[in-house]
Amino acid sequence: MSMKVVIVGGSTAGFICSLAARRFNEDAKIVVIRRERKALVTCGIPYIFGTLLSIEKDLLPDKLLADNNIELVIGEVKSIRRDEKVVVLSNGQEMSYDKLVLATGSTPVRPPVPGMDFENVFFAKKDPDYLQRLLLKLEGAKDVVVIGGGFVGVEFAEQFRKRGLNVTIVELLPHCLQLNFDDEYCIMAEEKLRELGIRVITKETVEEVVGENGKVVGVRLAGGERLKADIVLVAVGVRPETTLAREAGLKIGEMGGVWVNEYMQTSDEDIFAAGDCAEKYSFFTKKPTNLRLASIAAREAKIVAANLSQPRVKNSGAIGCFATVVGDLGLGVAGLIERTAREVGFDVLVGTATTVDKHPGAMPGTKKLKVKLIFDRASRVIIGGEVAGGVTAAELANIVSIMIERRMTVEEVAFSQYGTHPALTASPRTHPIAYAAEDALLKRASSAA
Ligand SMILES: Cc1cc2nc3c(=O)[nH]c(=O)nc-3n(C[C@H](O)[C@H](O)[C@H](O)COP(=O)(O)OP(=O)(O)OC[C@H]3O[C@@H](n4cnc5c(N)ncnc54)[C@H](O)[C@@H]3O)c2cc1C
Repeated sequence: MSMKVVIVGGSTAGFICSLAARRFNEDAKIVVIRRERKALVTCGIPYIFGTLLSIEKDLLPDKLLADNNIELVIGEVKSIRRDEKVVVLSNGQEMSYDKLVLATGSTPVRPPVPGMDFENVFFAKKDPDYLQRLLLKLEGAKDVVVIGGGFVGVEFAEQFRKRGLNVTIVELLPHCLQLNFDDEYCIMAEEKLRELGIRVITKETVEEVVGENGKVVGVRLAGGERLKADIVLVAVGVRPETTLAREAGLKIGEMGGVWVNEYMQTSDEDIFAAGDCAEKYSFFTKKPTNLRLASIAAREAKIVAANLSQPRVKNSGAIGCFATVVGDLGLGVAGLIERTAREVGFDVLVGTATTVDKHPGAMPGTKKLKVKLIFDRASRVIIGGEVAGGVTAAELANIVSIMIERRMTVEEVAFSQYGTHPALTASPRTHPIAYAAEDALLKRASSAA
């Protein structure tokens, strides 16, 4: 008899898991149960508000599910009866499964600040109807305050500015993007934000969101300043959505995600978890980590799909590779940044390179490219990299991520073969990754001498 796979959640992890499950299990009956009528391309959400200007342009193609004989049920799973292998939906419908995948994702953190319930205070929710309301509200707005200068807050701010709004970011840490990048990269991002006309306030907390007649009118900062706001967007992180798993008695991990083994099985071997709801383990330390990214969700979803009929593919842990863009400044990162590497106890060797992304530099559209690579001094293995430049920043970070996963040494990174083209890359002499690794090698040699 063919296997029945039920997937709860149809966003990044659930959608990708269902399609990969079909490739690995031709005969399986696959059902995706999703709360929302339509599901968003989550990473595209900020771009709805300044570039796409439409929710419809940022939707996952549900047709792919139908084309792959995957049943889509719009509904909410309320409970799991593990002993009978049945899920129960909010409308009372019961559905049996052989294998269950939890892809229930995450929900935005709501900071304990008064005024969060005022009208026109929005969160970075992945719900098309909710975001449609924000899109409409922006039409009459003038002043927007973004609480949180992580990559989600920065991307929203940049897109709000693109439509001509007065935008202020309020960030608690000394820099925007501080959790993702070393300071010199954060400073580049902040300079670009200011160049775009966005006000950036760091090392500051929001004491209160101020409202009148039930509607937000401003934000009061701990330092006393009051900022005007027609709209407040709160982006201060996410928390894994684990209600179903908890109530079903599944083990929960230290960081609050659904505990999983290296095959992505929960404490019940017939129930898997993938994406933001699943506990993450660092590729470097194997300890639980707070990384939550679509790229990680996608990889975990594929691992789950491969392991449904028999556990065989292991998850090596989250490297954390992602990119963002501020105006024309592309930023990419993979693995540990220098600050974090030192914090977790690595003796680091750092190599940097500053070059251009085309050659000769007179090629039209050439942009400055800055790369920093971080190696573990003891093993000489690459553990991180950061890139700032143009559109190539993201793919350069992806190359670094693969090098990290393959545990390449500084010599291997320096002497690898990189293709080049005048209109597409730096020159063969200064390919930024090789060039930064050469710099690390030189520093290593001089410190050994
Ligand atoms: C604005 C924004 C921009 C981002 N940009 C990037 C980026 O550029 N790069 C990157 O790598 N990551 C990015 N991320 C992170 C990325 O979006 C998440 O890591 C990704 O969405 C996780 O996917 P998921 O499927 O695990 O969870 P989610 O996207 O949270 O989806 C979970 C789904 O499960 C459904 N669900 C939950 N419980 C139930 C239930 N009981 N019954 C039925 N359905 C249920 C939810 O309604 C939801 O549809 C961004 C996030 C945001 C908010």
